[in-house]
Amino acid sequence: MSHPTDVDVATRLGALRREVDGVERAWDHRVEIVAVTKGFASWAIESAVAAGCRSVGENYAQELISKREVIETLRPEVHFIGRLQSNKVRQLVGLVDVWASLDRGSIIDEVAKRAEGARVLIQVNTTGEEAKGGCLPTDLATLVARAQETGLCLDGLMTVGPTGEPPEAARPGFRLVRNLVDEYGLSVCSMGMTADAHIAIEEGSTEIRVGTAIFGRRPVKG
Ligand SMILES: *Cc1c(COP(=O)(O)O)cnc(C)c1O
Repeated sequence: MSHPTDVDVATRLGALRREVDGVERAWDHRVEIVAVTKGFASWAIESAVAAGCRSVGENYAQELISKREVIETLRPEVHFIGRLQSNKVRQLVGLVDVWASLDRGSIIDEVAKRAEGARVLIQVNTTGEEAKGGCLPTDLATLVARAQETGLCLDGLMTVGPTGEPPEAARPGFRLVRNLVDEYGLSVCSMGMTADAHIAIEEGSTEIRVGTAIFGRRPVKG
């Protein structure tokens, strides 16, 4: 199957950058773009890096490991944004730069042990959906303390909007997470995907994670 060329990806990233910069908001921080390459082969990482986007997001341990060669060659900044099992952490050390989906004490401890001092985000579940990762907002204080006590570099928080709802439905959760980032004096507020990035930016996102708008529809897993 054919996939977008380097030129296509660069054009879409340029358009996205302009869109992001054009969103009216009360914040003056720059919004970083993490290019989500999950579901696409190594070409997606190559095209993103060629277009000057050095941050990529991956969700699945096995898939990320299968991209080891391109990662070790191009050295993008890899954000692990999917659900993370403790028994995978050891294999991912050296490939992951930002552990962006930590959501429970046991996984914080495992990352702290295997990847001392690593950059991490805590994922907050703001939609109540069981299928989504993330801690309850009420458990956040404990997890923030734990990440800091174990010597991890806690950059900020991450959240995912509700599935199958209009983008606007994500707004209350995004607002909550922005408030929590401020409350804990953190810097990174990772929220917004292809469908709801504009809402997230209005609500103070510092980092959107976008795949579809850059690389097209993901091939169905088979
Ligand atoms: C897949 C995914 C994204 C990107 O989604 P798109 O709709 O393709 O932009 C962002 N964040 C997380 C956590 C994801 O799983």
